[in-house]
Amino acid sequence: MGIAKRYARVRAEVDAACREEGRDPSEVKLLAVSKTVDVPAVAEAIEAGATAFGENRPDQLVLKQQAYPQAEWHFIGNIQSRRIKDIVPAATLIHSVFKEDHLAKIDAAAAAAGKVQRILVEVNVSGEESKSGLSPQEVWGFLQAADAFSHVQVCGLMTMAPRYDAETAEATFSGLAALRAELAQRTLPSGESPVLSELSMGMSEDWRIAIRHGATIVRIGRAIFSDEFEPTE
Ligand SMILES: *Cc1c(COP(=O)(O)O)cnc(C)c1O
Repeated sequence: MGIAKRYARVRAEVDAACREEGRDPSEVKLLAVSKTVDVPAVAEAIEAGATAFGENRPDQLVLKQQAYPQAEWHFIGNIQSRRIKDIVPAATLIHSVFKEDHLAKIDAAAAAAGKVQRILVEVNVSGEESKSGLSPQEVWGFLQAADAFSHVQVCGLMTMAPRYDAETAEATFSGLAALRAELAQRTLPSGESPVLSELSMGMSEDWRIAIRHGATIVRIGRAIFSDEFEPTE
């Protein structure tokens, strides 16, 4: 099965999972994580209907965004300060922000590019040491800091669950949804409540669990781009 077929199958499965949960499939963005494939492979996914892609390396983000500017390009990787100026002009949404000292740099790069950079806050819900992100307790302080920057817009939260562990994935995703609900009740220094409409959670193995807990973006790589990966179920 090629990329186009796998993309179409995953999109159909996501749509079906949404309907089972009583959710509108148009509420859930399927982010095709193209980090393991080359530029021509992206075209196959676009032909099958893909409109949004995720990359975790700045060079690949920029290269593929320039090749396919009609698509959305999301940055989902580890952020190095010195690459922020490259990431910002190319990124529709940056999923993986969790350092307060990156905010001023993102703000400056966005101002220079004439845009407001949409970002998500990465949260380490599961507390696994190997995972990056803020602890749930630290997110409110980060949101308050981000509120000061006019070219940065926090749109929601992102998390990763430990691999191959459905029970922990369940706790991780429900934990992120609960955190969002709790934060939305608070008031920022600007007098507004944070608008955290996006929940970016779920990958090839655990996206069904994420949709059940309110994911608005699922980030799927191998199930689309790898011929070895066959979804369980
Ligand atoms: C690679 C990656 C994904 C996609 O993972 P798959 O298991 O290939 O679906 C999702 N999110 C992040 C942050 C990634 O680095």
